[in-house]
Amino acid sequence: MTVIAIDGPSGSGKSTVAQAVASRLSLAYLDTGAMYRAAALWVECNGALDQPAAMPDLVRAMPLEISLIPAAVRVLLDGQDVTETIRSSRVSAIVSRVSTVIPVRHVLVAAQQALVAANREPGIVVEGRDITTVIAPDADVRVLITASAAVRLRRRALDQLGQADAAALEATSDEVLRRDRDDATVAQFLQAPLGVTLIDSSEQTIEQTVAAVLALLPRA
Ligand code: C5P
Repeated sequence: MTVIAIDGPSGSGKSTVAQAVASRLSLAYLDTGAMYRAAALWVECNGALDQPAAMPDLVRAMPLEISLIPAAVRVLLDGQDVTETIRSSRVSAIVSRVSTVIPVRHVLVAAQQALVAANREPGIVVEGRDITTVIAPDADVRVLITASAAVRLRRRALDQLGQADAAALEATSDEVLRRDRDDATVAQFLQAPLGVTLIDSSEQTIEQTVAAVLALLPRA
């Protein structure tokens, strides 16, 4: 029975690290950001991006299927594979408009807590913005992975555009800095609260950050 909770801002490397930790330990993996991204896409498809009051019911009824297998994460929305679409810059640009609507968060928090409860055996790695504080504050391991703004921008530019020159950094700044600013109004992921271990991945390889998380596991 292991629950590993990982939070962090965009570009911190938390998704890659969380997936690797889950694979290494043969645990389930829940990317809560994928749920918020799918919700934003669903709200947009239903023409409700400017109607916060309509969003909670839409999100509650969203036909979402998400696999919890770290090596094969797939997200289906209304039977369609949206795994790649939800990662696009277009969805990154709109997701905070949905995720900062508090009643929407209540719907997704309940769904995510149910998934955690159902996967306590053999265990689950959960990552997002409010995992250590809201979704699983009782997790066995609670980590906030961060990195400097410059490193996060560079990682996202390389990821999305394949380069990190001045134009690519500028094009990615909304997706990283503006989004973090908006997201930080409803979740605490910029500073580690008491009991949450801060890992700065700025100067670390993925493998080093994975090792740092694994080192926090309570000894059997
Ligand atoms: O982690 P990722 O960048 O995919 O998250 C996408 C968006 O989902 C975030 O920018 C944020 O708006 C929202 N999110 C959230 N709470 C979480 C996970 C993600 O509000 N636990």
